Amino acid sequence: MQPFAIIALVLILARVFAELWLSRLNQHHVRAHRNEVPPPFRAVMDEARYRRSVDYTLAKSRFGDIINVFDAVVLIALLFSRVLPWAFGRFSASVGTSVWAMAGFLFVTAIALSIPGLPFAWYAQFKIEERFGFNTTNMRTWIVDRVKGLLLAVLLGYPMLVLVLKLIAWTGANWWIWAAAVVIAFQLLLLLIAPALIMPLFNKFTPLPEGGLRERLFALARRTGFSTRGIDVMDGSKRSRHSNAFFTGFGRFRKIALFDTLIAQLSEPEVESVLAHEIGHYKKRHVIKMLSVSIAGVFVAFAAIAWLARQQWFDHAFGFEHQAGFVAANVVPAILLFALLGGTITFWVSPFVHGWSRHFEYEADAFARAAMGETQSLIQALRKLSEKNLSNLTPHPLYSSFYYSHPTLLERERALRAMPHETPGNRRWPRRVPPQRVLF
Ligand SMILES: [Zn+2]
Repeated sequence: MQPFAIIALVLILARVFAELWLSRLNQHHVRAHRNEVPPPFRAVMDEARYRRSVDYTLAKSRFGDIINVFDAVVLIALLFSRVLPWAFGRFSASVGTSVWAMAGFLFVTAIALSIPGLPFAWYAQFKIEERFGFNTTNMRTWIVDRVKGLLLAVLLGYPMLVLVLKLIAWTGANWWIWAAAVVIAFQLLLLLIAPALIMPLFNKFTPLPEGGLRERLFALARRTGFSTRGIDVMDGSKRSRHSNAFFTGFGRFRKIALFDTLIAQLSEPEVESVLAHEIGHYKKRHVIKMLSVSIAGVFVAFAAIAWLARQQWFDHAFGFEHQAGFVAANVVPAILLFALLGGTITFWVSPFVHGWSRHFEYEADAFARAAMGETQSLIQALRKLSEKNLSNLTPHPLYSSFYYSHPTLLERERALRAMPHETPGNRRWPRRVPPQRVLF
């Protein structure tokens, strides 16, 4: 075995063992609190509901362990059985090594590799979610969703892949800078058009109907200087009883969507506090900040691919032949191997990204608190959502700090209560600020 093959094996095993260890730690922690609702949560869940949330957490966690082990086994088999160089050789021999063929190889491989995951996704939705009363999807919607996803990938992903591979021959040694720029431009475009063109393919968005709630939410938008053309209700209940709200897109196309399940579960002031939180994400420019990091990430990834593609040991470690020269066929093996192995590195980076994301959640909560002038609505909303979604109230601290993009309920409540009280005099809400145009 080549030295780098051994390193790759160690990286894969390190990740899966870390995943299993964190999961065990969390399962023990959750089980230890199973028999009695911990005092801070007595107002959130009753005994029966709490036990159900524990069972739901454990069921998902055990299933996650199976998936993680399965993924690691598949990855090791793929990399060390030499099936990839064999498939690459067969594909090039029969379809050729043109850019279109090479993009086709990457595309077909990606689709083939996503197939083993389908039974797991099916089981999670129709067995686990079903057992805990969350599933509202039927088989037809589930299949149609996947077909739509595949069609979108063919229509949007394949042409982009072709362009990226064309750049290798067009621009030579600096191809990766151009490729990264193209991918970033594509991501921005996607972010811009997704709310208007892609999301409606999967869900129905309807303007919030006239009435008390709508008036309340628009008053909040005016008060916080958030210019919005509309607030949409999304038919989340088409797939699941889980509830949520989100904010996405930029400029003219930005969209605030509230799940119909959220509106059904929360009182009007509680929905208002959730919207205030979402406006907080916008006002604090969280989307832009996250985006700049992901842009940097794309550059790093392409720089790594370009460098690895020049290293003989990288191709040889997994049985590919190494050829120098800036043509797509020489770089495609490195792209494929990087796509397969990249996750073993990003896994260790993800806690930092999650920590940063939690920081944003605190900021958005603080914004909501100031905009509402009270904390009770938001606390009540968070409690109800935890209760309805059977959230894990007692994750192990190490587990939640590694994986959670949002602070836990208790952490958020504590932070909301601990914030210094502002006197009405120093709460400055501009009556009207010019609509912020961010990037576009
Ligand atoms: Zn948030």
